[in-house]
Amino acid sequence: MPKKIIVIGGGIGGLSGAIRLAKMGYDVHLYEKNKMLGGKMGRICREGFTFDTGPTLLTMPFVVEELFQFAGFDAADMLQITPVEPVCRYFFRDSDPFDASADQKTMQRNLMKRFPKDMVNYQRFMHYAERIYNKTAPVFIFSPVHEIRKLLKWQVFQTLLTLYQIDPFRTVHQSVKRHFQDPRLVQLFDRYPTYNGSNPYRAPATLNVIPYVELGLGGYYIKGGLYSLVESMQKAAKTLNVKIHTETEVERICHDNHRIQGVSIHGEKIDADAVLCNADVVTSHHDLIDGFQKKAKRLGRLEPSLSGLIFFWGIRGEHPNLGQHNIFFSQDYQKEFTRIFQDLIPSEDPTVYVSISSKSESRHAPEGCENWFVLVNMPYLNENQSDENELTNRIRQAVLQKLKTCGLDIEKNILIEKTITPRDIAIRFRSNRGSIYGISSNTLNSAFKRPPNRSRQLRGLYFAGGSTHPGGGVPMCMLSGKIAAELINEFESR
Ligand SMILES: Cc1cc2nc3c(=O)[nH]c(=O)nc-3n(C[C@H](O)[C@H](O)[C@H](O)COP(=O)(O)OP(=O)(O)OC[C@H]3O[C@@H](n4cnc5c(N)ncnc54)[C@H](O)[C@@H]3O)c2cc1C
Repeated sequence: MPKKIIVIGGGIGGLSGAIRLAKMGYDVHLYEKNKMLGGKMGRICREGFTFDTGPTLLTMPFVVEELFQFAGFDAADMLQITPVEPVCRYFFRDSDPFDASADQKTMQRNLMKRFPKDMVNYQRFMHYAERIYNKTAPVFIFSPVHEIRKLLKWQVFQTLLTLYQIDPFRTVHQSVKRHFQDPRLVQLFDRYPTYNGSNPYRAPATLNVIPYVELGLGGYYIKGGLYSLVESMQKAAKTLNVKIHTETEVERICHDNHRIQGVSIHGEKIDADAVLCNADVVTSHHDLIDGFQKKAKRLGRLEPSLSGLIFFWGIRGEHPNLGQHNIFFSQDYQKEFTRIFQDLIPSEDPTVYVSISSKSESRHAPEGCENWFVLVNMPYLNENQSDENELTNRIRQAVLQKLKTCGLDIEKNILIEKTITPRDIAIRFRSNRGSIYGISSNTLNSAFKRPPNRSRQLRGLYFAGGSTHPGGGVPMCMLSGKIAAELINEFESR
């Protein structure tokens, strides 16, 4: 009889692990508390508008392709992944927008026009970022970094010996500032650590790997919206006979004598040989595992990543001066991060991200309209935050004002509106203090502090998702599912 694995949570990490385990021959049962699978990768459809509610840009599509290939599907039959060009349009105060492109010739042309003095600096920066990727990816992205036996492999050992080459001792900002002359480009490249929820003024410069991933390897859109990835993973899981139970919340992870027994749902115990937990590691230790209060407390002290406030606006009218992905920068970037990460309150002058998928997918908005996904970085939930409604309204006004100063007077054209707050993120996905990407990468040893994919205290318990190794973001969560499934196969098949 195949061994039975219970997966808690149908986010990207849980689905990725479930598909792999089913393909490996396990009897897989996935429990998701919400109606829809996908977790933070969601979708809303309303009055002719369709919005992705989480990810809007896919990077490292080869990770998606590898999953489908492993599971026996042709990725091209499951999904249509296309490059987005420009990857992002940046708006700075008092100057024309700048298009960042993953096509190196286009990027050089754009730089030549706007930042000629930094053209060579950009090439140098990308070589440096590529070197960091080549050095770090095999160890910190594709391997289970907490498994000591694997760390002793020669390639890993070499990386550790040449650690200085991955620039861990400076911050992202210090390194970016040394590479670029124009403060606007410094701000542009300082933005990247926020893509795993971190602070450029504290995070190690190793995170300069992120611009290489986006601009070197490319940014992508999935036809139908990014949620199509969840739909195709769900289809693959069902075809492989994963038993999917939605609207079913796991109440406890049951264990006895340091060994996992199964889970309990509606007070009833369901046995399993192992559990793959895709729910946030911190909240799981706090809420689901009895007798682990001390560990939950220790995990709770790790600094969470950024949260976010998201406005979904169905807008009347079209805006040809906007791209599919747009960023409107704040005036004082350092102050913005001091407020978010130190004072733990949102900035009065927030940087605003606007994504409009109807630019490539006309079905996502009625004719003559656009679907705006508007994201502002927020601190994780904490005691310094006042009344959430008042805060949301204040930020909404600041966003509208910023857009107005850029010539986008849109308030009167908002036809429909929906908002997701940090508290919604915490409640809906059981995410630790509303963090989007698990634990922040603001310190030198974050990669090692991030909880491992295999529990050391409870045999048979494994973790996948943004709060565990290798971290947040769609490709990372998919890889965490892969790493966890491989560990299960290694430790549980005996
Ligand atoms: C606004 C926003 C924008 C983003 N933009 C991007 C982007 O452009 N590109 C990118 O790569 N990434 C982006 N991300 C990050 C990306 O969405 C996440 O890193 C990733 O989707 C998280 O996946 P996960 O595996 O950690 O699972 P989660 O999404 O955290 O899902 C966990 C699931 O577990 C379920 N669960 C929890 N507890 C229980 C329980 N007790 N019983 C049953 N079920 C339970 C939850 O309901 C949830 O469905 C964005 C995220 C957000 C919120």
